[in-house]
Amino acid sequence: MSATPSESPRAIAVIDIDGVLADVRHRLVHLDKRPKDWGSFFREAAKDLPLSEGIDAARRLAEVYEVVYLSGRPEHLRKDTLAWFRRHGVPEGELHLRPRNDFRPARDFKVSMLRRFNDRAPVALLVDDDALVLEAARSAGFDVLPATWMGAAPELHEAQEEEGRT
Ligand SMILES: [Mg+2]
Repeated sequence: MSATPSESPRAIAVIDIDGVLADVRHRLVHLDKRPKDWGSFFREAAKDLPLSEGIDAARRLAEVYEVVYLSGRPEHLRKDTLAWFRRHGVPEGELHLRPRNDFRPARDFKVSMLRRFNDRAPVALLVDDDALVLEAARSAGFDVLPATWMGAAPELHEAQEEEGRT
């Protein structure tokens, strides 16, 4: 069934992956090294355990909203990420990853994407675990649901903000 012009599009729930759906803690060790070992950090994403709170939240949101996944993971992890989604029963939704050569802080990348989604249909909320991303999204007028269930991952957030790598 296709939408007619009189129907408004479903509002969008935007969901982050790392620290929300996927438990990244087993691979943070690679960011503790100097220099950081990004290759190993990303290669091991396929082995992330699912965070049941996040996956349950995504399922509930998918009953009401169009779900869109927005992650600072690099584009080359698309295939692994989609396989992981299927393995762990993550609901269907567009997947937006960080384009190659985009090293903006996570908060800038994500807020610019929220604005893009919002041109298409209202963004109802962002689910994310990064305090700086949440704050930037809130300042830009978006509602947020802070994902607190994984526990702190300071190495990851430092890398997201300062190096624009995830
Ligand atoms: Mg995250």
